[in-house]
Amino acid sequence: MAKLLEGKPIAEKIKEQIKQEIVSLKIKPVLASMQVGDNAGAESYAKSQKKLAESLGIEYQFHKLNQDTSESELIQFIQKLNSDNSINGIIVQMPLPAQIDYKKISQFILPEKDAEGMHPANIGKIVFGKANILPCTVAAVMELLKETGVNLYGKEVVIVGHSEIVGKPLALLLLEKFATVTVCHIGTSKAGKLEEHVKKAEILIVAVGKAGLIKGEWVKEGAIVIDVGINRVGDKIVGDVEFEEAEKRASYITPVPGGVGPLTVTMLMRNLVEAAKLQQ
Ligand code: NAD
Repeated sequence: MAKLLEGKPIAEKIKEQIKQEIVSLKIKPVLASMQVGDNAGAESYAKSQKKLAESLGIEYQFHKLNQDTSESELIQFIQKLNSDNSINGIIVQMPLPAQIDYKKISQFILPEKDAEGMHPANIGKIVFGKANILPCTVAAVMELLKETGVNLYGKEVVIVGHSEIVGKPLALLLLEKFATVTVCHIGTSKAGKLEEHVKKAEILIVAVGKAGLIKGEWVKEGAIVIDVGINRVGDKIVGDVEFEEAEKRASYITPVPGGVGPLTVTMLMRNLVEAAKLQQ
């Protein structure tokens, strides 16, 4: 029976480290958050970010822009925050209205103020093994792996999902650690090869968004399973892996909810502190 890899206790440890780092920064770091238009989901994310930020001694500035804000107006707003020396990190809340392309506007955030770690320059640094600001979910997965004590060198890692925010940057980072990385995606499934790849995984990381995609019986005996997926099924939230069957085979498994999720917002705050250090 697998050990549960819960995010909360790890997040608590990291929060203590963040508090100490803030003391040595000798400034109260400021995170500027932007939301365009009304969206209950984005508002609730922003509220939980604010609560966590304030508990750590971070100032959280929330800017709400009108629903009809144009791309160029948002870029101007970002540039104003870029040139404001009192601001250490910037985050744009998702989702954005249809007239705004996140990929385009995220390039205007200064890389050293990119709290989400999604600027192309920060993603590019992963290729060179020089990343200091990682996409939050990727950083969360790495912390969970660290908690297991696993040595990644030469390990057979299978990632299912090749998005820009999870699968692709994670694959690069794991290669840096000399893991043998296979990345599966919709093409793998369509070719009928998902099962054979998953069965090889000593470490399985799944970020797709399809409940039950990974059958529990595919999980290799003793594997570490990190389930990033979030799916609403009826009134329950579940991951992408069939938990009950997988739990019998894995050595470690993340619960959903309670695994990756509680760590991601903490990683945002760690990125902010990293950003503040870079600016100093
Ligand atoms: P995405 O939609 O950008 O990418 C989905 C990926 O899954 C793609 O690579 C796609 O090719 C692959 N895919 C789709 N169907 C597949 C199939 N049948 N077989 C194999 N691969 C398939 O998604 P994303 O933004 O990376 O998010 C993935 C999941 O992770 C979602 O459920 C999301 O809610 C969750 N998520 C959780 C956190 C967290 O903090 N816990 C953070 C980010 C994303």
